[in-house]
Amino acid sequence: MRPTSPFANADLTDRILTSLPDFKTLQSTILTSKSIYSVFRNRPHSIVRAVAYNQIGPALPQAVRLVRCGHAKLWLKPVDELLGEDELVKHSILTNEEVRMLVDKAKVVEGLEDIFSWREKDRNFTTSQLSAAESARFHRAMYRIWLFATIYGHTACVHRDDIEFDEHETRQHEKKFLASFVTPELREIERLATFMCQIATWAENAGYTEHEYFGDSFSDFALFHGPHAVLAAYSDDMGWVEPFDDDDFLLERYDGFLFSAVSRVLEERKQSHMTDEQAKKIVLDNIIGGEDKCERCQSDSVKGTSLWGPNNWSFLPGFVRLYDWKDKLKGRLGFNIAETVGFNQACSATPWPILIGEVFDQKTEAYDLWNKDDWICRDCLEIFLKNHLHLWYLEKKRETGVIPENCWYGYNCRTQMHNMDHARKLNHWCEPTKGDP
Ligand SMILES: [Zn+2]
Ligand SMILES: [Zn+2]
Repeated sequence: MRPTSPFANADLTDRILTSLPDFKTLQSTILTSKSIYSVFRNRPHSIVRAVAYNQIGPALPQAVRLVRCGHAKLWLKPVDELLGEDELVKHSILTNEEVRMLVDKAKVVEGLEDIFSWREKDRNFTTSQLSAAESARFHRAMYRIWLFATIYGHTACVHRDDIEFDEHETRQHEKKFLASFVTPELREIERLATFMCQIATWAENAGYTEHEYFGDSFSDFALFHGPHAVLAAYSDDMGWVEPFDDDDFLLERYDGFLFSAVSRVLEERKQSHMTDEQAKKIVLDNIIGGEDKCERCQSDSVKGTSLWGPNNWSFLPGFVRLYDWKDKLKGRLGFNIAETVGFNQACSATPWPILIGEVFDQKTEAYDLWNKDDWICRDCLEIFLKNHLHLWYLEKKRETGVIPENCWYGYNCRTQMHNMDHARKLNHWCEPTKGDP
């Protein structure tokens, strides 16, 4: 007897289709046979809604609200004229266009969740390790921030000529919008907006943005555009930037965007400022290795997610500016007039995880107990780099040519700072053998 396909039964097929994890799988599944397709044709809305829930998660109501408010161009409207988070209950049919927008937005939110998890939850993994409850809080708050940015941020403001714009009224609308959330949910919004500002600042420090272009605060600017802009800045993909043409109106609008409105609501509710420790527990229930200490100095002040190891070296660029490389050299090497340009170029051309890994391969005897895989604080990492970067560069030079004779004064030599012939002729990436440079 031939085995019966589970797709032979319409109810069973329906159950299988509604349990598919995402729209891509749904699309390929319904195209595999006529009978499956006909089940889908008979019940498209409930199946699409179920798959939307599977893919977008419990924050689907917030995501649908964002998509529909944006689509309806409800720019600068007060909260009572916006669609609510019960939109999906009121109008449960999702159009193809809405599904496409939901999927696009979910990709951004998931991308930010991965970064959030890596930075704040578990430094060992670059993909999200958030629990289901933590993830749900993250998504809910992120879609709400995105809605705020859509209704009162950049897109709305560039269309202000079509709308009667009143600064005082808009500030009132912003406040009322945020006041529609209970305090713990407002704290989640504040917490994740802070996180996004940190990521935008990180991108700025990593050299992904040109500071002058954005006025004083790139992080406010990015938030004013929305979460997609923050993720794009982090990914060094600034194609999303719409030039301002020195638009003073917009510059004023994005200064303190979202935060000033959050503060006003919290003040009215007589809520005090959160400490950093309290903020850590908003959204997250626990932090993996949150109490871990630096394996070298055991400092009490730097713990957990502030430690550095091979799994997060690639996140360092936004903390240590690239053009600082030569300042991290030992002795007077950073002032060597013949070689610092080449050294900086060699550093910039090497991705951070590879560079730091290779520097660890140059480990000297004094650092015998230091292991590449140790989690260490930034101070310790910088000490290690300072004492080995010149050895790394010497090795790079050795790979491409012959190293000249050593200068007696090695990295401490003063002459390398002003005498080009001397700086070129001798090797300074070495220990001093004479003590009076
Ligand atoms: Zn340390
Ligand atoms: Zn010298």
